[in-house]
Amino acid sequence: MFFRDIIGHESALIRLRTLARGRALGPAYLLHGPAGVGKHRAATAFAAALLCDRRGDEACGECAACERLARENQPDLLIPEIEGEKDIVKMKYLREEFLPALAILPARGQVRVCLIDEAERCLPDESQNALLKTLEEQPKNTVFLLVAAHPERLLPTIVSRCQSIRFGPLPPEEVARVLKAQKVPAAEAGLLAALADGRPGEALRLREGGSLERRRAFLEPFADRGATAPWIDAAVTAGKGGSGSLEGARGRAKELLGFLAEPLRLALRAACGAPASDTADPLSLKAAERCARLGDAERLAGLLEGLMVAQRALDENANSALWIENALIPFLEAQDAPVSRVKAGR
Ligand SMILES: [Zn+2]
Repeated sequence: MFFRDIIGHESALIRLRTLARGRALGPAYLLHGPAGVGKHRAATAFAAALLCDRRGDEACGECAACERLARENQPDLLIPEIEGEKDIVKMKYLREEFLPALAILPARGQVRVCLIDEAERCLPDESQNALLKTLEEQPKNTVFLLVAAHPERLLPTIVSRCQSIRFGPLPPEEVARVLKAQKVPAAEAGLLAALADGRPGEALRLREGGSLERRRAFLEPFADRGATAPWIDAAVTAGKGGSGSLEGARGRAKELLGFLAEPLRLALRAACGAPASDTADPLSLKAAERCARLGDAERLAGLLEGLMVAQRALDENANSALWIENALIPFLEAQDAPVSRVKAGR
């Protein structure tokens, strides 16, 4: 992975390139930002640049160190092994193998890079404590790169030892460019970019996971008739996940709320007098017209906030059925004929 292949994140990449060139490195960096924005790609490009024998601001791709990296045989790049369904770094391995190995000097080059992706998920608290101890000891010639979508779930003592590098969501045009670079057809790339909330990784996940079909099934009845009580019930049922895992159900619930947020954003833009987005998806536009019936810009912004609050609550393990209902019930007002409100409780 090279910095030059990464689209967007200009200021973060300038900082990483400057660090790679100047070599005045701190002991640890925390690359953080929403899941799927490209943090891992940036961390990998940074690691490659640091390990490259030519010591420029970008890996050369030609030297012996770069060749070892390309062959996945670079002893100075350490990535802890993860195990099991929950992708956890096992404590015994971390304490007895991985961290003690840092006491010896880098195998080949001047510097060794220890890259921990999804650190908040892979490292339970006790593993974080073991890592903290190592960070405090500052092993020589070692740079830690922690990548996290939710840095607030890391121990504050770990975060405070890291220099923070933030990756924000990308504008939809840049997400679309990433998708086109991955050979996604232009029309589909535009729609996925609008749905992915600035996260190219999320856009690719949506494409591969049958998400566009689920979106159509969810959004078409809304666009045609507006929200109805059965439509909300169907959304809540999908969020409960049937026999699937609770985590999967939360993911689906978040996905449904995201499907509705996209046309709601279009309606909000129009209500604010902003120029129309260049998305040409007819279903988005039809659903946006339906959303526009719900009120003025202030009301639409409030509803959008409600969807985002519900999505965050799902992230934090809240009761999905309740949050979906709370977020969706106001949409009943977008029906063709006014109806009496349904009760939120069940
Ligand atoms: Zn090189």
